[in-house]
Amino acid sequence: MTAEVRPMKRSAVIDRRYRKMAKILRARKGWYGDGVMAEQILAGKVGLVFGVANKRSIAWAIAKAWAAAGAKLIFNYQGERLKENVEELVSEFGEGTPLWPCDVSSDADIAEFFSKVRGETDRVDLMLHSVAFAPKEALEGDFVSTTREAFRTAHDISAYSLVALARETAPLMTNGGSIVAMTYYGAEKVVPHYNVMGVAKASLEASTRYLAYDLGSKKIRVNCISAGPVNTLAARGIAGFSAMLKHYQEHAPLKRSCEPAELGGVGVFLASDGAASITGQVIYVDGGYQIMGM
Ligand code: NAD
Repeated sequence: MTAEVRPMKRSAVIDRRYRKMAKILRARKGWYGDGVMAEQILAGKVGLVFGVANKRSIAWAIAKAWAAAGAKLIFNYQGERLKENVEELVSEFGEGTPLWPCDVSSDADIAEFFSKVRGETDRVDLMLHSVAFAPKEALEGDFVSTTREAFRTAHDISAYSLVALARETAPLMTNGGSIVAMTYYGAEKVVPHYNVMGVAKASLEASTRYLAYDLGSKKIRVNCISAGPVNTLAARGIAGFSAMLKHYQEHAPLKRSCEPAELGGVGVFLASDGAASITGQVIYVDGGYQIMGM
């Protein structure tokens, strides 16, 4: 098999698999695509999804919405510990859905992951960055107690990784593309206990703007979705998380935070041509909480 033939053959197999899977997802009762996104607005697009850990992951909600809208997806998982879980989830998209390890704090892992991506497809259109980490103790006490190491780790994994992944993805976005990263309001206002993660999210949001400027001439758009609190694995690491949810129920204009499927819907919008002139932005999906002054 020559290098030119292999990706094309593989693409045809994936095409069939994804068309079938998108049909199943669209037909599923209660699925957000019902009526709302029945159209295959991402048909023919190839997306990379970073950050699925389990079925509660925001990355999983956005991946399902992207797939239901017709995109073909390639996934990472953080390490052996999560492999089985993620493998089982993505098998919903058909056996053999591309899935490789990638710890985003490792340049070697990122290089290896993208060499596999290049073996699978010669073009990428979408990339989701739904990855964050800070040591648990940094999300419990005072911000002033943040250690140098916790500060470094939080920024490396939660913000720098967007730059590293965008650098690898951009050359594959030969027809333009959409990069979406997940952020939180703690980037701009103080949210008790969010601490160093808020500072890392501020860095992620600023990186989004600089990347949008750098990559705009290649028709690559870079945006953040700022989600209200969602009960996920990462969220449970934040002390007082249930109080945050309650606070949104009491104070957000819509009297709630957001549903994962709604994040999926906005993910599809940002990935679609409907958002062709939107870049460098932070889009709030938070029940309107961000507009409140008190
Ligand atoms: P999650 O735990 O399901 O996802 C976090 C992901 O980050 C996991 O898949 C984990 O494997 C991955 N990750 C952590 N360190 C990594 C590393 N070194 N290499 C590769 N992957 C690594 O939780 P989630 O809530 O779905 O978080 C996804 C994104 O959404 C994060 O950026 C988070 O900050 C953001 N966010 C979450 C909320 C919320 O309330 N849950 C609100 C706003 C924004």
